[in-house]
Amino acid sequence: MKIAMVSEHASPLAVVGEVDAGGQNVHVAALASALALRGHRVDVYTRRDHPDLPPSAPLRDGVMVHHLDAGPAEHIAKDELLPHMPQFTQQLQAALEHSQPGVLHGHFWMSGLACTQVAASLDISLVQTFHALGSVKRRLQGAADTSPEQRIALERDVAERADRVIASCTDEKRELVRMGADSARVDIVPSGVDCDWFVPDGPRAPRTARPRLLVVGRLVPRKGVDDAITALQWIEDAELVIAGGPNADDIRHDAEARRLAALADELGVADRVHLIGQVPHTELTSLIRSAELMLCLPWYEPFGIVPLEAMACGIPVVGAAVGGLLDTVVDGVTGALLPPRRPRAVAATVTALLGDEPRRRAYGRAGRARALKYTWDQVARSTERSYLRAVMSRRPEAELVAAEQSGGLL
Ligand code: UDP
Repeated sequence: MKIAMVSEHASPLAVVGEVDAGGQNVHVAALASALALRGHRVDVYTRRDHPDLPPSAPLRDGVMVHHLDAGPAEHIAKDELLPHMPQFTQQLQAALEHSQPGVLHGHFWMSGLACTQVAASLDISLVQTFHALGSVKRRLQGAADTSPEQRIALERDVAERADRVIASCTDEKRELVRMGADSARVDIVPSGVDCDWFVPDGPRAPRTARPRLLVVGRLVPRKGVDDAITALQWIEDAELVIAGGPNADDIRHDAEARRLAALADELGVADRVHLIGQVPHTELTSLIRSAELMLCLPWYEPFGIVPLEAMACGIPVVGAAVGGLLDTVVDGVTGALLPPRRPRAVAATVTALLGDEPRRRAYGRAGRARALKYTWDQVARSTERSYLRAVMSRRPEAELVAAEQSGGLL
């Protein structure tokens, strides 16, 4: 099948770890690749954010990434992109008129906006994954939420107009239904992890004699890195390594990194906190394996690939009981889940786990077994099922039967 994916701000070719480049980039790249391995042809459309980008570039066999002109060819914060979406939509329409995909898959609400218009005008089946919802962001970030005012209303509209909506976890489906989405049209398809790359055995990054706690993620306040730093004052001897943000050379100029460093200073733990900056995705495995525990303490989390990456490497997760972590991390089996924003509880749990190696090992083994349920091949198969349902909802039954008999549907 010919699949068109749209990921307006999150290119599958981008370096991940900076403010607007994280899970969605990883998800689109890995899902497109897994679909290609299953015999599909995938075209990914993203905004040109650098003048040197070619019109099109291959990601791998069967996956092409296309850069559409919309606004200046430079980085624009995703919350500033809305005014450029009409131009993006025009470009997308022109591209799809030409390539005629069998299904269109929008990632994030602004891609969804472009996709609903193009899908309606070209009569293409549409599947939408939001990756994050404005209603949740508004509830938890309040005045700090920089999303455009119209986001929540537009998201509701996209959810209504898409043939199928993919929620990344049970919690997101609940939120979508609360927003008014028809639950019969919402499929839950999680994100995934490359279990052949994120493995327990392999090189480990160099480390000190201190027990190592690790945080990996974009340096944005809602990831709760400050709670990990706050907890550290009550955890004897351990060090906290924080990967993410700009690269190591630029990290000290980053406002959020400076805020976190100042907090560590104030709490007297600066000598045990290491903000190491963005770590290339391919180098993360050895860093993860060098840690005793992964801390994932977001205020909210639409999915959270990092907990899965830790589990795939056999490292227990101490996480906040929110969003996708409620589905992926099993409390008392693959790690511990705690209410968000409770650093004292984090400290107590981490201290207990650091003193109990057999339990950490058992959690690590169970985590690896659980991560194996989230391979990208499985994610691709479930996504295919959503595509099929989307196609079926638009095409007359006779046409479907004929297509299925000739093996042409998927
Ligand atoms: N990541 C990375 N290097 C970094 C920081 C993050 O490769 O320095 C990757 C991380 O391994 C994960 C993704 O970025 O695959 C973050 O995804 P997640 O779903 O955890 O968070 P999101 O970015 O979607 O909020």
